[in-house]
Amino acid sequence: MFERDTEIYLDRDALREDYQPERLVGRDTELERYKTALQPVINGEQPNNIFLYGKTGVGKTAGTRFLLDHLVDDAAQYDDLDLTVKILNCDGLSTSYQIAIHLVNKFRPEAEQISTTGYPRSTVYEMLWDELDRYGGTILIVLDEVDHIDDDSILYQLPRARANGKLEEAKIGIIGISNDFSFRDDLSPKVKSSLCEEELQFPAYDAQELFEILQQRANVAFREDVVDTSVIRLCAAYGAKDAGDARQSLDLLMKAGDLAREAETDSITEDLVREARDVLERGRIREGISGLTQHGHLVLYALVTLDQQEETPVRSRDIRPRYMSFAEQVGIKPLVPRRMRDHLGELSMLGIVTAIERNEGRRGGTYREYAVDMDIDLILTALEETVEEVGIHESVLSLVEQDRTLSEYT
Ligand code: ADP
Ligand code: MG
Repeated sequence: MFERDTEIYLDRDALREDYQPERLVGRDTELERYKTALQPVINGEQPNNIFLYGKTGVGKTAGTRFLLDHLVDDAAQYDDLDLTVKILNCDGLSTSYQIAIHLVNKFRPEAEQISTTGYPRSTVYEMLWDELDRYGGTILIVLDEVDHIDDDSILYQLPRARANGKLEEAKIGIIGISNDFSFRDDLSPKVKSSLCEEELQFPAYDAQELFEILQQRANVAFREDVVDTSVIRLCAAYGAKDAGDARQSLDLLMKAGDLAREAETDSITEDLVREARDVLERGRIREGISGLTQHGHLVLYALVTLDQQEETPVRSRDIRPRYMSFAEQVGIKPLVPRRMRDHLGELSMLGIVTAIERNEGRRGGTYREYAVDMDIDLILTALEETVEEVGIHESVLSLVEQDRTLSEYT
């Protein structure tokens, strides 16, 4: 029943996010600065704490792994330097307590792991100091995606552990990586000053940089003559236009490869790239919309109907009556205006809605107007349940009917 297909890919995994490329392209300046910030480690001095930020997919994790691999290799030639590097991804961990437990376990052998509940926080911290001192030497702790944590106790405790007499042997350095720059602004001043000794920023990639990244991976991933330069250029151009995110561009190339495989052709065409982009975009919207709360759905539905009546861009207070009547129809209490605006903010963060900043004329204030920034059909499909519950608004009647007829035939 199953048979290997080998027409398209040599090594599909090379397009996956966890593949570590041998060389990083287009990040020379940033990596040079990063390297400088890490120099004290090789000198055997107290490491700097480093805060690295940039949007998703700009090479923060890959760049960190790349430099730290080299650092560990190069440290081996100095007999008086005993370097340990531990990388913890904080995705899924929301408190300092959980981080501390996971760190303890990173330093402990399999048989001595502790469970993730049941210990008082102070006990866990004591365990952590014990482990760190047991290792001794220089220890770099990378907290990747650190913006997932809600309290910054660990970010205060770790950098100060030595000064506070908790550690005698170990010299530790923290590298905090965040997708979200506002995370830094929200830190308490004392944490900020210790964690952000060295601040590094990775900017988004432009089309040329994405092209080089994709080219490098395509050489490993695909058979000869499967992708030509124009196809890679197109993926890079889309990537630069969307977010300058290498992960997203690699996903696009992989999706196009998968479509080519499905279609049993032997090369990836530009049309397949466009189709792949469409498929991925639909997936992203569906996921984004399904993650919203019911109020988010109602706000979006209200905005969609206003869009169909050509009343957008529209202010939040003018979306409100429609939203309120929808809320009434499904029998829930509408949110206060501020909370309703939060939902518009979230929709614009997801790229489903645009928010346009306007000036209030002579009085000087500013306000926002909102418009839909996505294919309406896509949104309506994702909002199917909401539309069902609220009822089909007359402004979208023809669209919804059309969708239904279509889906009956396909
Ligand atoms: P971030 O951590 O900033 O979200 P990643 O480091 O995970 O982003 O990068 C996303 C993907 O893009 C990974 O597969 C990574 O290998 C690749 N990548 C990012 N930057 C580069 C680069 N400069 N050269 C080669 N590959 C890169
Ligand atoms: Mg990352």
